[in-house]
Amino acid sequence: MDTVERLNKANYECLLFDMDDTLYPMSTGVNYACRKNIEEYMLQFLEIEASEVPRMCLELYKEYGTTMAGLKALGYEFDNDEFHAFVHGRLPYERLKPDPVLRNLLLSMPQRKIIFTNADKAHADQVLTRLGLDDCFEGIICFETLNPPFEPNSYEDEVYRCLSSEEPDYNLFFSESERKAEVIHAGNDDTLLPKSQILCKPSLEAMEAAIQIANVDPKKTIFFDDSIRNIASGKAAGLHTVIVGNSELVPGADLALTSIHNIKEALPEIWEEEEDHFEQVVQSTAVDTVIVLA
Ligand SMILES: [Mg+2]
Repeated sequence: MDTVERLNKANYECLLFDMDDTLYPMSTGVNYACRKNIEEYMLQFLEIEASEVPRMCLELYKEYGTTMAGLKALGYEFDNDEFHAFVHGRLPYERLKPDPVLRNLLLSMPQRKIIFTNADKAHADQVLTRLGLDDCFEGIICFETLNPPFEPNSYEDEVYRCLSSEEPDYNLFFSESERKAEVIHAGNDDTLLPKSQILCKPSLEAMEAAIQIANVDPKKTIFFDDSIRNIASGKAAGLHTVIVGNSELVPGADLALTSIHNIKEALPEIWEEEEDHFEQVVQSTAVDTVIVLA
C-alpha cells in the first residue's frame, strides 16, 4: 500500500458499530435464545402453526432484517413494545460479561463511535451495560430511532384535524422512504414481497437514514456488522465495511475480522490518524515558537 492510499484510508471520522454478535460473539447463545423467544411469541400471540414457526422465523429474518419487520409486512398486527418486552425480557443477559479489552480499544479510538442496531433501546442499554461499554459510544441508533412511536395527539395529528373533517389518513405520517415503495425484491430473483412499515437494516433506506441521523460522511465512516446482508447494504450506501465474526471476505466487505478484538491489528489506520494529527500539531507549535523568538 503506498503512502497516499494509506493516508486516505486513515481519514476516518466515525465508526458505526452493529451490536449483537458484533461486539460480543454469537457463542454466548443470546442470539439463539432471542430466536427461541420470537418463535414462542409467534406461537402464543400470533397463533401461527407450530410446524411453520421455525422456518418462517428464519426466512423473515433473512428477507426483512428482523422477523418482526417481516411479520408486520405479512399483515400481523401487534404492539412493538410488547413484542420487544417479550423477546428481550427474559434473555440470558448474565452470559454477557464485562469486556475490558474491547472497552480500552474503543476508548482509545479518536473517531466518533455510534451504535447502529435493529434492536430496541432497552435491549441495547442492557447489552452495553453488561459488556461494560455503555459509556464508550456517542449515541445509539436503534429501533425507536428509525421507527418513532406514533402519538395520536401529535402535532401532525392536530394539523390534520385543522385541515380536514375526515378521519386522519395515517399514511400521511409515514416517511417518504416508507411510502414510496410497496414491495421489495427478495434475494436476487424477481419475487416480490410486501414491504414492511418497519425501517431496519438491511434496507438501503435504513442505512441512509442512519447516515443522515449520525450526520456522517459515509466515505469517512467504517461500518462493522456480523450480517452479510447488512454489509452489502452498507457498501451500497457508500460506507467502508468490515464483516465481523467471519474469517473470509463477503460481497461488499472491505475487511473481515474473526473477532472485534482483532481490530487494532487489522485496522491500525484508526489509531494512526491520531498520531499523524499529533505530529502536525507538534510541528506547527514548534514553528510558532520559532517565530515568537525571532
Ligand atoms: Mg448483529
